[in-house]
Amino acid sequence: MTTHSSNISLKSLHTFQLPYKAATMVAITSAEQLSQLEDDYWVLGEGSNTIFTTDFIKPLVRILIRGIEITETSDTYDVSVGAGENWHRFVTTMLDQDVKGLENLALIPGSVGAAPVQNIGAYGIEVSRYIKSVDAWDRHECKLVTFTKAQCAFGYRDSIFKRSQGRFVITQVQFSFPKTWQATLSYGALAELPADASAQQIKAEVIRIRNAKLPNPNDIPNAGSFFKNPVISLEEFSALQERYPEIPSFAVDATQVKLAAGWLIDRLGLKGFQCGGARVHDKQALVLTNAGSATGADVLALARTVQERVQEHFGVTLEAEVRLLGAEELVHL
Ligand SMILES: Cc1cc2nc3c(=O)[nH]c(=O)nc-3n(C[C@H](O)[C@H](O)[C@H](O)COP(=O)(O)OP(=O)(O)OC[C@H]3O[C@@H](n4cnc5c(N)ncnc54)[C@H](O)[C@@H]3O)c2cc1C
Repeated sequence: MTTHSSNISLKSLHTFQLPYKAATMVAITSAEQLSQLEDDYWVLGEGSNTIFTTDFIKPLVRILIRGIEITETSDTYDVSVGAGENWHRFVTTMLDQDVKGLENLALIPGSVGAAPVQNIGAYGIEVSRYIKSVDAWDRHECKLVTFTKAQCAFGYRDSIFKRSQGRFVITQVQFSFPKTWQATLSYGALAELPADASAQQIKAEVIRIRNAKLPNPNDIPNAGSFFKNPVISLEEFSALQERYPEIPSFAVDATQVKLAAGWLIDRLGLKGFQCGGARVHDKQALVLTNAGSATGADVLALARTVQERVQEHFGVTLEAEVRLLGAEELVHL
């Protein structure tokens, strides 16, 4: 276990790169080490879905548990992965070993341990599709527990881990990949690939599209999609569609429709809109960026302004997808 002393710069520990500090930080390399910690801490992966809006006074715990183990049955590849592995490196390792399934989720920043927390998704696939079980340290009961996939209660950018406000620290994730693989090419630009595209071709195309569409946090600090795509009732949707016949939508089920938050923000002409150093990205309205000298207050002011304008204009409530942190806890918009 490595304990860092006080005053750790958070700039390089989250992709929005705000200039704040953490009081202390502990790096964990095995599940057992979690039992030795004082309970009051916040778990940090690679900080790509987290924005520190001020100095953080609670201890931070970074999960650096490594290792990828592959076994197989006649029908599946079963893979157990340490929560501290980097997500994209894991996807690449799987595909290089001809274990297919995660190609659509290539290049999503962050750690394997954070992937189940918000059930990461892209290009028509959510990670929950391949998760078999999740091991976690239960901070209330002080013991290691295993969640079956059903117990993870996955939803759109949601899971029991997200809803339980940090109670469970994920240490290991088990995946199961059927050997009979089928490409998922239904999403947007992927539909242009040939129907017999290989998993490696899909991965390359996903990387190409992502690099073209999304700002690289190393060049323009950001935390990916800032807001979730809002889900509304069919009735609300019909009323909106009368006013905006071109509004993009995706059916969730027989009664609910998902809207594209980026389209709503873009429709209000907010691309390039700035509060202090925080800016709505010029090319992708769903991404808020640190234009160079943003403060936490700038980010919160920008996010609240966007949220208010969308509410006023469309009657739709935007919820943050990113985790905004105050001095000790989550900050809500
Ligand atoms: C450019 C860019 C593009 C992105 N694209 C996508 C996308 O296409 N799809 C998508 O779904 N997301 C996307 N994201 C968001 C982000 O990549 C994911 O949410 C990712 O899973 C976050 O991983 P992390 O390790 O950085 O998590 P962090 O930001 O460190 O943590 C996120 C949350 O998970 C908790 N957490 C982290 N590790 C653990 C653990 N081991 N146990 C329990 N809780 C934990 C933290 O406490 C926090 O609440 C994008 C982000 C960026 C910057």
